[in-house]
Amino acid sequence: MSARIRLRLSVLALASLLSTAALAETVTLRFVQTNDIDRMQEEKGRGGFARLAAVIGAERAEGPTFFVHSGDTLSPSLLSGIDKGAHIIDILNQMGVDAMTPGNHEFDFGKDNFHDRIAEAKFPVLTSNMREADGSQPPGTLDERIVDVDGIKIAFYGLTTEDTPIVSSPGDMVFKSSIETAKAKAKALREAGADLVVAVVHTPLPVDIALVRAHAADLVFSGHDEHLMTFYDGKTVLTESGSQADDIVVTRVTVDKEVKDGKTRVTWRPAFDIVDSATVTPDPKIAAVVKAYQDKLDAALKVDIGTTTTPLDSRRATVRGEEAAIGDLFADAMRAAVGADVAITNGGGIRADREYPAGTVLTRADIFAELPFGNKTVKLSVTGEQLRAALVNGFSQADQGAGRFPQVSGLTVDVDLAKPPRERVLAVKVGDKPLDLSATYTLATNDFMANGGDGYAVLREAGQLIGPIDAQLMASQVIDYITAKKTIAPTVEGRIRPAP
Ligand SMILES: [Zn+2]
Repeated sequence: MSARIRLRLSVLALASLLSTAALAETVTLRFVQTNDIDRMQEEKGRGGFARLAAVIGAERAEGPTFFVHSGDTLSPSLLSGIDKGAHIIDILNQMGVDAMTPGNHEFDFGKDNFHDRIAEAKFPVLTSNMREADGSQPPGTLDERIVDVDGIKIAFYGLTTEDTPIVSSPGDMVFKSSIETAKAKAKALREAGADLVVAVVHTPLPVDIALVRAHAADLVFSGHDEHLMTFYDGKTVLTESGSQADDIVVTRVTVDKEVKDGKTRVTWRPAFDIVDSATVTPDPKIAAVVKAYQDKLDAALKVDIGTTTTPLDSRRATVRGEEAAIGDLFADAMRAAVGADVAITNGGGIRADREYPAGTVLTRADIFAELPFGNKTVKLSVTGEQLRAALVNGFSQADQGAGRFPQVSGLTVDVDLAKPPRERVLAVKVGDKPLDLSATYTLATNDFMANGGDGYAVLREAGQLIGPIDAQLMASQVIDYITAKKTIAPTVEGRIRPAP
């Protein structure tokens, strides 16, 4: 072949390549997902916003990137108990969120606080199934968001779990069917020319799966269950990014857009990367912001919350061996916070092991020292039989100083601690009525006990009205309870009555 012909062939090949390139283009879109992140700082070298920001930054350096947040972030944390989640919005503002949907925990401090926080957000907050009582879009939120990247139209919508009114405090906000909303949104967005429909949702797994089966989006980024998962059935992507940004799911979608005979055809395929946040270097800018908030928290913990006019005693032998005034106080705060008939919390969870003379001014730090485990208050539905069995367990090792010893609210128990372990509960009253073994009661307790801890296996059989992932911190509830009362005077009043 002569040189001239060879050259001519090459030019032809190049021209054909160029004409194809003019008609088709490939774009890689990156989605970095987080969900269920209420803890701003890392723990044991993993999680937190600074490490998450580093992963987002690395993707942004590579090409078009969306940081999506699938909700549950304003609560529960120590600092949120004080600033109602304001620091989280500030951190997210500095990170730059591309799409967030509210989760149930965004309502833990009520509807007005939700509106205040959303008003502070400088990023798109999407919800398509949650509405104000009058049916309007919540102020500051969007029903949808359409973004154009290199001619590819990406449409976002959002869903918030329908059980929010049961597990949090959204007031008169209305939560419409997730599935029906999603199907209608996907149809409308596709008809409007969306090439890729992205659902950022805070919904339980069965709803996520229903969204996938209905192909109510191309990509579903979910939260709420705190699962770590990537899923693709050839048609729909579903991911969830664990919790606290311990692991971060990155979905890279390669999109081919081809224009043929005036018609646009989009094909795409996903690739997943689960980044263990322990392997990245925290973003220094966000790390500094988090550090400043931690310093603020340390100062805030020194704040006075109220005065006890009676002495309190959290010594180990007291909280694990008899009714303690401080145990009554904590159980009362838990019961009030979730509106339960009765409360039981294990004496072993009360930890500071000290005495407070009458007149002591309590600080937030005192309460966190007493309740250091980050336990949350769950609300269970129990039968009288189960409640009795829980109390039987509670007193079964009282002679050994075991942590299961119950501190209670809303009930009185006659006990004989000299009897064999399972025969010590003599009589139980709820309020002023004898316990009805076949009746149903609501019980406030901590998530450790609800999961069967300290021998409370019977509580695992109870119905969960507010489960662990929806619950709020016990310590924050106790602080709020004392702060509201300003002066407290708990006494040992005969809730647990030992046989003479
Ligand atoms: Zn949730």
